[in-house]
Order: sequence, then C-alpha cells, then structure tokens
Amino acid sequence: MKFYSLNKLSPSVDFKEATIRGQAPDKGLYFPEIIPQVDQNFVNGIEKIPDEEIAFTIIHPYVGSAIPGDVLYNIVKETINFPIPLVKVNENIYSLELFHGPTLAFKDIGAKFMSRCLGFFSKERKEKQVVLVATSGDTGGAVANGFYNVDGVEVVILYPSGKVSAVQEKQLTTHGRNIHAIEVNGSFDDCQQLVKQAFADKELNHDLFLTSANSINVARWLPQQFYYFFAWKQWESKENPPVMSVPSGNFGNICAGLLAHASGLPVQHFIAACNANDTVPEFLETGNYKPKRAVATLSNAMDVGEPGNFIRVMEIFHQRIGDLKKVMNSTSISDVETIQAIKKVNVEQEYLLDPHGAVGFLALQQYLQKHPGQKGIFLETAHPVKFADTVKSIINREIDLPLAIQEILNKTNLSVNMNVNYSDLRDFLKQFK
Ligand SMILES: *Cc1c(COP(=O)(O)O)cnc(C)c1O
Repeated sequence: MKFYSLNKLSPSVDFKEATIRGQAPDKGLYFPEIIPQVDQNFVNGIEKIPDEEIAFTIIHPYVGSAIPGDVLYNIVKETINFPIPLVKVNENIYSLELFHGPTLAFKDIGAKFMSRCLGFFSKERKEKQVVLVATSGDTGGAVANGFYNVDGVEVVILYPSGKVSAVQEKQLTTHGRNIHAIEVNGSFDDCQQLVKQAFADKELNHDLFLTSANSINVARWLPQQFYYFFAWKQWESKENPPVMSVPSGNFGNICAGLLAHASGLPVQHFIAACNANDTVPEFLETGNYKPKRAVATLSNAMDVGEPGNFIRVMEIFHQRIGDLKKVMNSTSISDVETIQAIKKVNVEQEYLLDPHGAVGFLALQQYLQKHPGQKGIFLETAHPVKFADTVKSIINREIDLPLAIQEILNKTNLSVNMNVNYSDLRDFLKQFK
C-alpha cells in the first residue's frame, strides 16, 4: 500500500516511511491510495471472529510488507490487550467504553500501535530514534505508556506547567528509563512552538533522528478503526446498524470510523460531536471553512479550533461536502449542556459520563429524537476519573479511583523543569546523540 501526500507535492511512500516521517515533506498528511474493502462474510460473521483477528484483517492491507505478518499480528495483539465493552445506557443508546486501557483514554490504542511499529523499524535501522511530542494532557500519558521500554526509542514529552490534571501529570512523568518529561513554564502553545523549532532545526536533525508522535501519524490514525468493528461485533440488531456519535477535536477518531465505513462496515450515520469549538459544525451548515482560535471547555481534549484531520475526512468523500453530509452531521454542545447531561444520566441511568463522552451522548440523543426507530452508540473516550474534579463537582459525590490510578498517584514525578527557551531544549536533546 502506498500513501500519498494530500498536498500532492511529495512522492508517495509506504507504511514505514509514512510512520517514520509523520507528515510528508510538503507538510501534507498521508492518505492511502486505495481504501481496502472488507469481505461480506467477514462483516456478517464478525461475532465469531476473535478480536485480534479482526484487527489484523483491518490493518494488514495498510501495512503491507512493511512489517512481517507474524510481527504485525503480535503488535495488534499487544495493542488491544484490554476490554472494549459495549454497555447499554438506555433503551436506544449504548456506550462503547474505550477507557479500559493503561492511561484510561482511547489514545492508548493508537499510541501503543505506533510505538510498536516504530520500535520494529528502529531495530531494522539500528539507529536510535527520538520521539518528541507536546501534550495538553492525554497524548503525553498514552505516548509515555506506549513507548515505555521500547528499544531504540527515546521519548521527550513537553507539557505546560500547572495546566494538566494531577492524574495526567503522573501518567507522563513517572516512567523514567527511555521516557523524559519536561515541565515547561508556559502554555501548551509554547510547548508546541518549542517542538516545531526543534523539527525545523537542520543542524539538530542532522545529529539526531527526530520524529513526532502526534495524532496525524498514520500509525496512530489507522488502528482506531478497530473499535468501530468491535462495536459492530457486539451490536445485537444487525438488521438495523447503529448511528455512531464520536466526541471530536482533531477529528482523527471519527476519520478512522468513516474510513472503516468506506471499507464496508455497516453504520447508519455518523455524528461528529463537538464542544464550543465549532469549526466543523459551522462548515457543514454554511459551506465556509473558517479555522478559529481554540476556546477552553470542560472537554479539554477536544479544544481544537483547526482540526488537523478534517482534510482527511474530506478526502474520503473526494473533497465533496455534499457527499460527506449524506453520511455525517456535526453538532456543537455547550458546557452548560454537558454538565446537565452528566447530571441527568448519572441520576436516571446510574451511568457516569466523562465530559467528552457527555458531548457524544447528548449529540446522539438529539439526533435520535429526530430519527425515531434508530439506535446508536457514542464513544466514551475517557474514564470520568481522569476529569475527577470536574465530574465530582457536578454529581456532588466522590468517585472511586481505579487501582491503577491510586498506584500512579503515589509515584514520583521525574520531570525536569524548563523555561520557554529553545536553546535549553536543544541542549537537552543533544544528550541523545
Ligand atoms: C483526543 C481526545 C478526543 C478527541 O479525539 P480526536 O481524534 O482528536 O477527534 C476526545 N476525547 C478524549 C478523551 C480525547 O483524549
């Protein structure tokens, strides 16, 4: 399989090159030249197929010969070694719980898959790679966990001091070994700016093999298709496929769902559930694409004003907005509505939503009210405990901390502190020469 750059100014590359580079030299995102089709027997008989076989079947055409089949099979198996249950919330609405992984958010899947692929490629190259990433919270923990102890890969994570939750901070600062966390005295934008400077630094890149682990990397994007198939596997009324509501920020997750659908997965309709950052809902309504500055909300992992993966969503529909609108709509949900949804579902269904899942739930409920007879699934993208302070104050009670969280809160923060000063970061990175 080849991947072309959406800017069309760089040559097509295979899965290995696309993973190592992240972005094409012309700054375009990589997109598969063809969308593989799944077999009808696979779709109809999915209940009997083991999860790792489903995942392998989906990802194998994209990876092609870049990774031997037996190695890829093991990577897939390690990636999905936790449950992804479909839980009934009310008569028409189900929650696909993506938060049972090591850092309690769905990014574990993409990060783990990518880390294993890079680990394999670095073994082949016999050259140390340095993964450099800025995080506003969830990405850092997932990347730290995914890459911990992966041979040949050093990971440097920059996070803004005082702006990530207590759980998130421990998840990215306590590993040690090949994971290096830097607490930056600045904002997330400052962290991102420092990372960009490092990637643009020719001399540094001559000495070091630097690579990024952000969500536009194909190795993080493509494995997210897995859980849409797992949802279908657990869906009881196969004659009436589900509406799928996806809490969306950078639009990587829903883009994977749309890709799965384009490959033959039955889905009635997609909803891109957004918070107050409404670039896409507005685009679908007006036809004008106007990226904005992100505004802060309760569902902070979706605070994106310029969704990086949206160009890929459009590419699935050959850049035709009319065709996209037949399959997907997009709604903007406010913080006030998010709070009401968490409260109401906690009382009426005794189900605790996190702020991101709440946005997905509400967008789905609103859609189903207008489309009687349909049923749907929202993706619960994070465990409520990751946003404990917010959730506790909404439901007025303590929430139980899972054992993994209790343990991590007792670990030592190993981060180093740094001012927003590129030469300091540069010196730090040079130790990996
Ligand atoms: C990253 C994230 C999202 C947004 O996913 P995208 O792929 O960026 O659209 C939603 N919820 C949670 C909890 C996240 O961490």
